[in-house]
Amino acid sequence: MKNIYAIGVGLIGGSLCIDIKKNNPEVVIHGISRKETTLNTALELGLIDKKATLDDLANADLVIISIPVNATVQLLPTVLDKISDTGLVVDAGSTKVDICKAVENHPKRRNFLAMHPIAGTEHSGPTAAIEGLFAGKTNIVCEVEKTTFKLQEKALKLFTDIGMRIRYMNPEAHDKHIAYMSHLSHISSFMLGKTVIEKEKNERDIFDMAGSGFASTVRLAKSSPEMWTPIFEQNKTNVIETLEEYIENLTQFKELMQANDFDAINTEMKNTNHIKDILKGISQE
Ligand code: NAP
Repeated sequence: MKNIYAIGVGLIGGSLCIDIKKNNPEVVIHGISRKETTLNTALELGLIDKKATLDDLANADLVIISIPVNATVQLLPTVLDKISDTGLVVDAGSTKVDICKAVENHPKRRNFLAMHPIAGTEHSGPTAAIEGLFAGKTNIVCEVEKTTFKLQEKALKLFTDIGMRIRYMNPEAHDKHIAYMSHLSHISSFMLGKTVIEKEKNERDIFDMAGSGFASTVRLAKSSPEMWTPIFEQNKTNVIETLEEYIENLTQFKELMQANDFDAINTEMKNTNHIKDILKGISQE
């Protein structure tokens, strides 16, 4: 692999560029973005070697798309149109059903690998890119059988070399499970933040009283709305299902409080402490 094109050089795209370049110093990383200022920052930070445009993609051995999922659905067919017969395109989007559907009948479908690296932080843009973000994390790969074997091998080596475990899943199962493991946590964090902000209009009080419990629980509420809105839109059915179950649990908790049934509340929390065993050894985010 000689020429890698990163479309999107924010947290995920930029972090992938850092780790891939570290392992493959001979590779030239070309950055593509909507805004010139974003590309300039990526260049200054050393995330990319050169600036490029979509018209350069025929030269690509690998294209990594890390932009919001609605933009990925729109752009992916054009990117596949532009690459050579031996080029590979991967995406890092947090939803997989709509992205896979967007190219299911594309003549170059075999040049595309759908994936979701389960790693991240609440920060965004090129300045959020960090080295080692993916070490020990899982990369979910969908519909692997639809990608040319040689291209699969190349891509999977690149991602295992940066420390990722590969797991295979179909796009429907991915979107369903990720709604519970990631999308619901973000909504819960955003709405917890909203509840507290609305009550405590004086932000100084929040600052003074915010212990680490509050800070760690609302951490995800700092995430980018531009990235998350299209995720909720694309995964609407699954996310609504998780929300209904979550709201039911909150309501039950409130009713136990109203009924002064603190033994039941204690039991609920004891049962949920079991999450410690589940989380042990599982990479976070
Ligand atoms: P990010 O830091 O906000 O970077 C995304 C980049 O995409 C921005 O730098 C922006 O560049 C560009 N962009 C924004 N809107 C665009 C649009 N409508 N059309 C074209 N480009 C656009 O986001 P990220 O966290 O790296 O996420 C990138 C992808 O990875 C998303 O698909 C997300 O679902 C997925 N993902 C995120 C996480 C996470 O925890 N953050 C984890 C795994 C996967 P400009 O400034 O030039 O517009």
